[in-house]
Amino acid sequence: MNGGIKIGRLFGIEVDVHPSWFIILLVFVWSLATTLFPQTYHWSTTVTWTVAVVAALLLFASVIVHELGHSLVARRQGIAVKNITLFVLGGVSSIEKEASSPRREALLAGSGPLVSLVIGVLALLLAYVPGEPQTVHAVLAYVGFMNVLLAVFNLLPGFPLDGGRVLRAVLWARSGDFERATRGAARAGYVLGYALIVLGILTAISRNVLAGVWAGFTGWILVQAAQASYAQVVAQQRLAGVTAGSIATPAHVWIPPMVTLEAAANDYFLANNARCLPVEGADDTFDGIVCLSDLQHTPRSQWSHDRVADVMTPRDRVAALTSEAPAAEALRLMAERNINQVAIVDGDRLTGFVDRATALRHLRLHSLVGRRQA
Ligand SMILES: [Zn+2]
Repeated sequence: MNGGIKIGRLFGIEVDVHPSWFIILLVFVWSLATTLFPQTYHWSTTVTWTVAVVAALLLFASVIVHELGHSLVARRQGIAVKNITLFVLGGVSSIEKEASSPRREALLAGSGPLVSLVIGVLALLLAYVPGEPQTVHAVLAYVGFMNVLLAVFNLLPGFPLDGGRVLRAVLWARSGDFERATRGAARAGYVLGYALIVLGILTAISRNVLAGVWAGFTGWILVQAAQASYAQVVAQQRLAGVTAGSIATPAHVWIPPMVTLEAAANDYFLANNARCLPVEGADDTFDGIVCLSDLQHTPRSQWSHDRVADVMTPRDRVAALTSEAPAAEALRLMAERNINQVAIVDGDRLTGFVDRATALRHLRLHSLVGRRQA
Protein backbone atom coordinates (compact mmCIF):
# COMPACT_ATOMS: atom_id res chain seq x y z
CA MET A 1 0.00 0.00 0.00
CA ASN A 2 1.29 3.45 -0.90
CA GLY A 3 1.44 6.64 1.10
CA GLY A 4 2.06 5.00 4.46
CA ILE A 5 3.74 6.88 7.30
CA LYS A 6 6.43 4.83 8.97
CA ILE A 7 5.83 4.47 12.71
CA GLY A 8 8.43 1.88 13.62
CA ARG A 9 9.95 -1.53 13.12
CA LEU A 10 9.06 -4.86 14.76
CA PHE A 11 11.24 -7.96 14.29
CA GLY A 12 12.87 -6.12 11.39
CA ILE A 13 9.52 -5.51 9.64
CA GLU A 14 8.54 -1.92 8.93
CA VAL A 15 5.17 -0.86 10.34
CA ASP A 16 3.34 1.94 8.49
CA VAL A 17 0.05 3.72 8.96
CA HIS A 18 -1.95 4.94 5.97
CA PRO A 19 -3.43 8.45 6.41
CA SER A 20 -6.94 6.90 6.18
CA TRP A 21 -6.23 5.05 9.42
CA PHE A 22 -6.32 8.26 11.49
CA ILE A 23 -9.93 8.77 10.42
CA ILE A 24 -10.94 5.33 11.61
CA LEU A 25 -9.03 5.81 14.88
CA LEU A 26 -11.03 8.99 15.50
CA VAL A 27 -14.30 7.20 14.65
CA PHE A 28 -13.50 4.42 17.13
CA VAL A 29 -12.43 6.78 19.94
CA TRP A 30 -15.46 8.97 19.34
CA SER A 31 -17.98 6.11 19.32
CA LEU A 32 -16.42 4.56 22.45
CA ALA A 33 -16.37 7.85 24.35
CA THR A 34 -19.83 9.06 23.34
CA THR A 35 -21.85 5.84 23.06
CA LEU A 36 -20.45 2.55 24.32
CA PHE A 37 -18.75 3.58 27.57
CA PRO A 38 -21.34 6.17 28.76
CA GLN A 39 -24.10 3.54 28.27
CA THR A 40 -22.45 1.20 30.77
CA TYR A 41 -20.28 3.30 33.09
CA HIS A 42 -20.57 6.61 34.91
CA TRP A 43 -17.13 8.15 34.55
CA SER A 44 -16.04 11.76 34.29
CA THR A 45 -15.52 13.12 30.77
CA THR A 46 -11.72 13.01 31.15
CA VAL A 47 -11.72 9.38 32.32
CA THR A 48 -14.17 8.35 29.57
CA TRP A 49 -12.08 9.89 26.77
CA THR A 50 -8.78 8.61 28.19
CA VAL A 51 -10.12 5.06 28.46
CA ALA A 52 -11.56 5.36 24.92
CA VAL A 53 -8.18 6.41 23.50
CA VAL A 54 -6.36 3.60 25.35
CA ALA A 55 -8.90 0.98 24.24
CA ALA A 56 -8.80 2.09 20.58
CA LEU A 57 -4.98 2.18 20.50
CA LEU A 58 -4.77 -1.28 22.09
CA LEU A 59 -7.27 -2.59 19.53
CA PHE A 60 -5.09 -1.29 16.68
CA ALA A 61 -1.96 -2.63 18.37
CA SER A 62 -3.59 -6.06 18.35
CA VAL A 63 -4.34 -5.66 14.63
CA ILE A 64 -0.58 -5.13 14.16
CA VAL A 65 0.10 -8.29 16.19
CA HIS A 66 -2.38 -10.18 13.94
CA GLU A 67 -0.40 -9.05 10.88
CA LEU A 68 2.85 -9.85 12.64
CA GLY A 69 1.55 -13.42 13.03
CA HIS A 70 1.20 -13.69 9.22
CA SER A 71 4.53 -11.96 8.61
CA LEU A 72 6.60 -14.11 10.95
CA VAL A 73 5.13 -17.33 9.53
CA ALA A 74 5.86 -16.03 6.01
CA ARG A 75 9.44 -15.34 6.97
CA ARG A 76 9.84 -18.82 8.43
CA GLN A 77 8.70 -20.13 5.05
CA GLY A 78 11.45 -18.11 3.37
CA ILE A 79 9.07 -15.48 1.96
CA ALA A 80 10.17 -11.85 2.31
CA VAL A 81 7.81 -9.37 4.01
CA LYS A 82 8.06 -5.75 2.87
CA ASN A 83 5.96 -4.08 5.56
CA ILE A 84 2.79 -4.06 7.63
CA THR A 85 0.35 -1.22 6.96
CA LEU A 86 -2.63 -0.14 9.03
CA PHE A 87 -5.40 1.41 6.95
CA VAL A 88 -9.09 2.22 7.16
CA LEU A 89 -10.26 -1.42 7.13
CA GLY A 90 -7.59 -2.92 9.40
CA GLY A 91 -4.13 -4.19 8.63
CA VAL A 92 -2.36 -5.66 5.63
CA SER A 93 1.03 -7.37 5.32
CA SER A 94 2.90 -6.91 2.05
CA ILE A 95 4.07 -10.46 1.54
CA GLU A 96 6.27 -10.92 -1.50
CA LYS A 97 4.82 -14.09 -2.98
CA GLU A 98 2.37 -16.95 -2.48
CA ALA A 99 3.07 -19.92 -0.23
CA SER A 100 4.61 -22.91 -1.99
CA SER A 101 2.19 -25.65 -0.86
CA PRO A 102 -1.41 -25.97 0.41
CA ARG A 103 -0.20 -26.83 3.91
CA ARG A 104 2.04 -23.76 4.05
CA GLU A 105 -0.74 -21.57 2.66
CA ALA A 106 -3.14 -22.79 5.36
CA LEU A 107 -0.54 -22.11 8.07
CA LEU A 108 0.26 -18.66 6.69
CA ALA A 109 -3.42 -17.68 6.41
CA GLY A 110 -4.49 -19.24 9.69
CA SER A 111 -1.73 -17.67 11.80
CA GLY A 112 -3.30 -14.17 11.94
CA PRO A 113 -6.77 -15.23 13.13
CA LEU A 114 -5.16 -17.66 15.60
CA VAL A 115 -3.15 -14.77 17.10
CA SER A 116 -6.33 -12.64 17.35
CA LEU A 117 -8.20 -15.49 18.99
CA VAL A 118 -5.46 -16.03 21.58
CA ILE A 119 -5.29 -12.28 22.37
CA GLY A 120 -9.09 -12.17 22.57
CA VAL A 121 -9.47 -15.12 24.94
CA LEU A 122 -6.59 -13.94 27.16
CA ALA A 123 -7.96 -10.39 27.37
CA LEU A 124 -11.46 -11.67 28.19
CA LEU A 125 -10.08 -13.92 30.95
CA LEU A 126 -8.05 -11.02 32.39
CA ALA A 127 -11.13 -8.78 32.20
CA TYR A 128 -12.84 -10.87 34.86
CA VAL A 129 -10.04 -10.93 37.47
CA PRO A 130 -11.80 -10.06 40.78
CA GLY A 131 -11.08 -6.67 42.36
CA GLU A 132 -9.89 -5.12 39.08
CA PRO A 133 -10.52 -1.37 38.52
CA GLN A 134 -13.61 -0.75 36.37
CA THR A 135 -11.57 1.11 33.72
CA VAL A 136 -9.15 -1.82 33.29
CA HIS A 137 -12.07 -4.23 33.04
CA ALA A 138 -13.73 -2.05 30.38
CA VAL A 139 -10.59 -1.88 28.21
CA LEU A 140 -9.82 -5.61 28.49
CA ALA A 141 -13.42 -6.67 27.83
CA TYR A 142 -13.60 -4.41 24.76
CA VAL A 143 -10.22 -5.45 23.33
CA GLY A 144 -11.00 -9.13 24.06
CA PHE A 145 -14.41 -9.03 22.39
CA MET A 146 -13.10 -7.14 19.35
CA ASN A 147 -10.21 -9.58 18.87
CA VAL A 148 -12.57 -12.56 18.92
CA LEU A 149 -14.73 -10.71 16.39
CA LEU A 150 -11.62 -9.97 14.29
CA ALA A 151 -10.68 -13.66 14.29
CA VAL A 152 -14.20 -14.74 13.31
CA PHE A 153 -14.58 -12.11 10.56
CA ASN A 154 -11.19 -12.91 9.05
CA LEU A 155 -12.02 -16.62 9.02
CA LEU A 156 -15.09 -16.08 6.81
CA PRO A 157 -14.37 -18.28 3.78
CA GLY A 158 -14.11 -15.60 1.07
CA PHE A 159 -10.85 -14.89 -0.73
CA PRO A 160 -8.80 -12.73 -0.11
CA LEU A 161 -9.80 -12.86 3.59
CA ASP A 162 -7.70 -15.25 5.69
CA GLY A 163 -10.55 -17.78 5.75
CA GLY A 164 -10.76 -17.58 1.95
CA ARG A 165 -7.06 -18.38 1.76
CA VAL A 166 -7.59 -21.39 4.00
CA LEU A 167 -10.43 -22.41 1.66
CA ARG A 168 -8.08 -21.99 -1.30
CA ALA A 169 -5.49 -24.20 0.42
CA VAL A 170 -8.12 -26.92 0.89
CA LEU A 171 -9.27 -26.67 -2.76
CA TRP A 172 -5.64 -26.58 -3.90
CA ALA A 173 -4.79 -29.70 -1.89
CA ARG A 174 -7.79 -31.46 -3.39
CA SER A 175 -7.32 -30.53 -7.07
CA GLY A 176 -3.59 -29.78 -7.22
CA ASP A 177 -4.51 -26.78 -9.42
CA PHE A 178 -3.58 -23.47 -7.80
CA GLU A 179 -5.38 -21.26 -10.31
CA ARG A 180 -8.60 -23.26 -10.16
CA ALA A 181 -8.46 -23.23 -6.35
CA THR A 182 -8.00 -19.43 -6.41
CA ARG A 183 -10.99 -19.09 -8.76
CA GLY A 184 -13.17 -21.15 -6.42
CA ALA A 185 -12.10 -19.18 -3.34
CA ALA A 186 -12.55 -15.85 -5.17
CA ARG A 187 -16.12 -16.87 -6.12
CA ALA A 188 -16.78 -17.51 -2.44
CA GLY A 189 -15.36 -14.00 -1.86
CA TYR A 190 -17.92 -12.47 -4.28
CA VAL A 191 -20.80 -14.35 -2.66
CA LEU A 192 -19.68 -13.25 0.80
CA GLY A 193 -19.13 -9.66 -0.39
CA TYR A 194 -22.59 -9.40 -1.99
CA ALA A 195 -24.16 -11.04 1.08
CA LEU A 196 -22.54 -8.35 3.27
CA ILE A 197 -23.84 -5.62 0.93
CA VAL A 198 -27.42 -6.97 1.17
CA LEU A 199 -27.09 -7.38 4.94
CA GLY A 200 -25.73 -3.84 5.15
CA ILE A 201 -28.67 -2.39 3.20
CA LEU A 202 -31.18 -4.28 5.34
CA THR A 203 -29.45 -3.17 8.55
CA ALA A 204 -29.29 0.45 7.38
CA ILE A 205 -33.02 0.48 6.57
CA SER A 206 -34.29 -1.35 9.62
CA ARG A 207 -31.95 -0.73 12.54
CA ASN A 208 -28.67 1.14 12.43
CA VAL A 209 -27.62 3.32 9.51
CA LEU A 210 -23.93 3.53 10.49
CA ALA A 211 -23.52 -0.23 11.07
CA GLY A 212 -25.37 -0.91 7.80
CA VAL A 213 -23.21 1.45 5.78
CA TRP A 214 -20.13 -0.07 7.38
CA ALA A 215 -21.17 -3.66 6.50
CA GLY A 216 -22.13 -2.64 2.95
CA PHE A 217 -18.86 -0.82 2.43
CA THR A 218 -16.87 -3.80 3.73
CA GLY A 219 -18.79 -6.11 1.37
CA TRP A 220 -18.13 -3.85 -1.59
CA ILE A 221 -14.38 -3.70 -0.77
CA LEU A 222 -14.37 -7.51 -0.47
CA VAL A 223 -15.94 -7.95 -3.93
CA GLN A 224 -13.36 -5.57 -5.43
CA ALA A 225 -10.52 -7.29 -3.59
CA ALA A 226 -11.67 -10.75 -4.70
CA GLN A 227 -11.71 -9.60 -8.33
CA ALA A 228 -8.34 -7.86 -8.14
CA SER A 229 -6.62 -10.66 -6.21
CA TYR A 230 -7.87 -13.31 -8.63
CA ALA A 231 -6.74 -11.29 -11.67
CA GLN A 232 -3.35 -10.79 -10.02
CA VAL A 233 -2.90 -14.52 -9.33
CA VAL A 234 -3.82 -15.38 -12.93
CA ALA A 235 -1.37 -12.77 -14.24
CA GLN A 236 1.40 -14.01 -11.96
CA GLN A 237 0.87 -17.61 -13.02
CA ARG A 238 0.63 -16.93 -16.73
CA LEU A 239 3.40 -14.37 -16.86
CA ALA A 240 5.77 -16.35 -14.64
CA GLY A 241 9.33 -15.77 -15.80
CA VAL A 242 8.40 -12.80 -18.03
CA THR A 243 10.17 -9.59 -16.98
CA ALA A 244 8.77 -6.07 -17.25
CA GLY A 245 11.79 -5.08 -19.34
CA SER A 246 11.05 -7.75 -21.95
CA ILE A 247 7.57 -6.39 -22.72
CA ALA A 248 8.52 -2.70 -22.51
CA THR A 249 8.42 -0.32 -25.46
CA PRO A 250 11.75 1.52 -25.65
CA ALA A 251 11.64 5.29 -25.16
CA HIS A 252 12.91 6.77 -28.46
CA VAL A 253 11.42 10.23 -28.29
CA TRP A 254 12.20 12.58 -25.44
CA ILE A 255 10.62 15.93 -24.78
CA PRO A 256 12.52 18.98 -23.45
CA PRO A 257 11.04 20.46 -20.24
CA MET A 258 10.73 24.01 -21.61
CA VAL A 259 8.57 23.15 -24.63
CA THR A 260 5.09 24.74 -24.49
CA LEU A 261 2.05 22.47 -24.27
CA GLU A 262 0.95 23.66 -27.72
CA ALA A 263 4.24 22.48 -29.26
CA ALA A 264 4.22 19.31 -27.14
CA ALA A 265 0.80 18.34 -28.49
CA ASN A 266 1.63 18.99 -32.15
CA ASP A 267 5.33 18.23 -32.50
CA TYR A 268 5.68 15.42 -29.97
CA PHE A 269 2.43 13.62 -29.08
CA LEU A 270 0.64 13.83 -32.45
CA ALA A 271 3.81 13.48 -34.53
CA ASN A 272 4.81 10.29 -32.68
CA ASN A 273 1.35 8.94 -31.90
CA ALA A 274 2.43 8.75 -28.25
CA ARG A 275 0.39 8.94 -25.07
CA CYS A 276 3.24 9.48 -22.60
CA LEU A 277 6.78 10.75 -23.11
CA PRO A 278 9.82 11.03 -20.86
CA VAL A 279 11.02 14.55 -20.12
CA GLU A 280 14.72 15.20 -20.72
CA GLY A 281 16.92 15.86 -17.71
CA ALA A 282 20.60 16.72 -17.43
CA ASP A 283 23.22 14.07 -18.34
CA ASP A 284 20.95 11.62 -20.16
CA THR A 285 18.74 11.18 -17.07
CA PHE A 286 15.05 12.04 -17.03
CA ASP A 287 13.16 14.74 -15.13
CA GLY A 288 9.74 13.15 -15.20
CA ILE A 289 6.98 12.00 -17.49
CA VAL A 290 4.34 13.95 -19.32
CA CYS A 291 1.18 12.33 -20.68
CA LEU A 292 -1.60 13.54 -22.97
CA SER A 293 -3.92 13.42 -19.96
CA ASP A 294 -1.72 16.04 -18.21
CA LEU A 295 -2.33 18.33 -21.19
CA GLN A 296 -6.05 17.61 -21.19
CA HIS A 297 -6.25 18.65 -17.54
CA THR A 298 -4.86 22.08 -18.46
CA PRO A 299 -7.29 24.64 -19.99
CA ARG A 300 -6.68 25.07 -23.72
CA SER A 301 -6.13 28.81 -23.27
CA GLN A 302 -2.96 28.13 -21.25
CA TRP A 303 -1.37 25.81 -23.81
CA SER A 304 0.55 28.61 -25.54
CA HIS A 305 2.46 29.70 -22.41
CA ASP A 306 2.42 26.71 -19.96
CA ARG A 307 5.41 24.43 -20.32
CA VAL A 308 5.91 20.70 -20.08
CA ALA A 309 7.83 21.16 -16.81
CA ASP A 310 4.69 22.75 -15.24
CA VAL A 311 2.38 19.79 -15.84
CA MET A 312 4.66 16.73 -15.88
CA THR A 313 4.76 14.08 -13.15
CA PRO A 314 8.16 14.65 -11.51
CA ARG A 315 10.61 11.76 -11.46
CA ASP A 316 10.17 10.85 -7.78
CA ARG A 317 6.40 10.41 -8.25
CA VAL A 318 6.56 8.35 -11.45
CA ALA A 319 5.26 4.78 -11.14
CA ALA A 320 8.37 2.79 -12.04
CA LEU A 321 9.81 -0.72 -12.02
CA THR A 322 13.23 -2.08 -12.89
CA SER A 323 13.54 -4.07 -16.11
CA GLU A 324 14.11 -7.24 -14.04
CA ALA A 325 10.80 -6.87 -12.13
CA PRO A 326 8.07 -9.43 -12.99
CA ALA A 327 5.74 -8.30 -15.78
CA ALA A 328 2.75 -9.17 -13.57
CA GLU A 329 3.98 -6.51 -11.12
CA ALA A 330 3.46 -3.88 -13.84
CA LEU A 331 -0.18 -4.94 -14.20
CA ARG A 332 -0.65 -4.84 -10.42
CA LEU A 333 0.87 -1.36 -10.18
CA MET A 334 -1.33 -0.03 -13.00
CA ALA A 335 -4.46 -1.47 -11.37
CA GLU A 336 -3.51 -0.21 -7.91
CA ARG A 337 -2.81 3.36 -9.03
CA ASN A 338 -5.38 3.41 -11.82
CA ILE A 339 -2.82 4.43 -14.45
CA ASN A 340 -2.14 3.20 -17.99
CA GLN A 341 1.64 2.89 -18.07
CA VAL A 342 4.61 2.12 -15.87
CA ALA A 343 8.12 3.46 -16.54
CA ILE A 344 11.04 1.05 -16.67
CA VAL A 345 13.90 2.68 -14.79
CA ASP A 346 17.27 1.08 -14.10
CA GLY A 347 19.40 3.20 -11.80
CA ASP A 348 19.14 6.75 -13.16
CA ARG A 349 18.03 5.80 -16.63
CA LEU A 350 14.60 5.43 -18.08
CA THR A 351 14.68 2.76 -20.78
CA GLY A 352 11.03 2.43 -21.75
CA PHE A 353 7.39 2.02 -20.80
CA VAL A 354 5.04 -0.87 -20.22
CA ASP A 355 1.49 0.17 -21.07
CA ARG A 356 -1.67 -1.58 -20.04
CA ALA A 357 -2.70 -2.67 -23.55
CA THR A 358 0.69 -4.29 -24.23
CA ALA A 359 0.78 -6.02 -20.86
CA LEU A 360 -2.75 -7.39 -21.37
CA ARG A 361 -1.85 -8.54 -24.89
CA HIS A 362 1.08 -10.51 -23.46
CA LEU A 363 -1.19 -11.92 -20.79
CA ARG A 364 -3.66 -13.17 -23.43
CA LEU A 365 -0.82 -14.51 -25.56
CA HIS A 366 0.58 -16.50 -22.66
CA SER A 367 -2.91 -17.79 -21.86
CA LEU A 368 -3.23 -19.09 -25.42
CA VAL A 369 0.21 -20.65 -25.51
CA GLY A 370 -0.48 -22.38 -22.23
CA ARG A 371 0.18 -21.60 -18.65
CA ARG A 372 3.71 -21.82 -17.33
CA GLN A 373 3.83 -23.39 -13.93
CA ALA A 374 5.47 -21.17 -11.34
ZN1 LIG B 1 -5.10 -11.87 8.60
